[in-house]
Amino acid sequence: MKAKKSLGQNFLNNKTICDSIVFLLSPTKKDLIIEIGPGKGILTKKLKKHNTRIVGIEIDKNLKEHLSLLEDDNCKIIYNDILKTDIQSLLKDYKYNDLYIVGNLPYYITTPIIEHIIKSKVNPIKMVFMVQKEVAERFSATPNTKKYGYITVYLNHYFDIKKELFVSKKNFSPKPKVDSQVISFIRKEVKAIDNEQEFFEFVKECFIHKRKTLKNNIGNRKFSIIKGVLNENGFNDMVRAESLNEEMFIKIYLLLKKKADIS
Ligand code: SAM
Repeated sequence: MKAKKSLGQNFLNNKTICDSIVFLLSPTKKDLIIEIGPGKGILTKKLKKHNTRIVGIEIDKNLKEHLSLLEDDNCKIIYNDILKTDIQSLLKDYKYNDLYIVGNLPYYITTPIIEHIIKSKVNPIKMVFMVQKEVAERFSATPNTKKYGYITVYLNHYFDIKKELFVSKKNFSPKPKVDSQVISFIRKEVKAIDNEQEFFEFVKECFIHKRKTLKNNIGNRKFSIIKGVLNENGFNDMVRAESLNEEMFIKIYLLLKKKADIS
């Protein structure tokens, strides 16, 4: 079977890396694992050793010849696009303690997949993903670094994100152009915000032109309202969004909201 580039099919060929991913996940028998894009099943086989129930979601029906060999009472494969899968209703068929999500993700839709999981409100306790190294750096970036951006603030609102092992492109066939990184997402207590969608739209606006100052991005009128709070917290008028942590974003968002000045 020829790997489909358009589906991000770079199959892992190193079982030791799979062992490390399974070790990072460490589910128990009573948990449920969703594996995204099981491919030919190299990781699925290792996950099965834990006797945890597994649901694999794979878009490519042609991989059935590999995956059907792994299916049993504890392991079910659904052939569907993960982005079109209603994860919430899929989970209604299962009783489990905690939900874990894992996958060597198709790189062309890494961020949409994670956003889809967050929006589906299924609250996984832990997720372990293989992603492009550069993407892992953006997800786990800290303020005042080049890689820190909207997506960092968004994902870190829900999870503690940690770069785990580096994986050279040599461990895949066909070999991709870039190296990869395993990254873990551990559920955390989410800071309550009345209107999360509106908050994240505001954060997006703050980052809209990364090189511009916050004042330029949100405009003079809004900036004049939050200027005081920024100055009190040690930021001058030239501050860029990349210097602000989530707490600061929440502070300025709430202030603008109070003054009814959110777009
Ligand atoms: N897990 C396998 C491995 O480690 O070798 C395959 C990983 S490969 C990088 C990504 C897998 O995701 C492929 O099997 C691909 O067919 C599947 N995939 C691509 N787009 C998908 C989508 N929208 N929904 C579900 N699976 C998808």
